[in-house]
Amino acid sequence: MAIKEILLIGNPILRKKSENVHQFDHELLSVILDLKDTLIDFQKRKKIGRAIAALQIGELKKIIYCNLPDRAFALVNPEITWRSNETFEVWDSCFSFDVAFFVKTERFKSITVKYQNEKGDLIEETFQDDLSELLQHEIDHLQGILATDRQISKQDIILRDEWEKMF
Ligand SMILES: [Zn+2]
Repeated sequence: MAIKEILLIGNPILRKKSENVHQFDHELLSVILDLKDTLIDFQKRKKIGRAIAALQIGELKKIIYCNLPDRAFALVNPEITWRSNETFEVWDSCFSFDVAFFVKTERFKSITVKYQNEKGDLIEETFQDDLSELLQHEIDHLQGILATDRQISKQDIILRDEWEKMF
């Protein structure tokens, strides 16, 4: 479909709450395809990134698109229905930070997410570790929450070059 402009931190739309999707129609598929094209373009340009939320291209709808090495899928109306007691710390960045810096956050080690696919089928799936933290980040976007809001302490922020030295 089209590569869209990614909204950057400071843009007030990123602080808005996204709305539920009710129609599983052509319009939904066109947003999903725009997310896919925008994500793949960003991955190529920046050599990083796994998922995008619809509001990052200005669509205030509960839609997330993930493009992982072994799986590409959309989550519509995702909701976390279970969180593990165990948490872990992870350095997190965002397309909306232009992946210019990372913040250290605390995330649940596993979560169960109830969501719909692009056809409207209801799915419940448990995600662990890197996928768990990824989906917590993306589902936060749908509530207007950014990774910087989850930053553990004021010191826990580094530029991408410094992050690359650590990993
Ligand atoms: Zn993000």
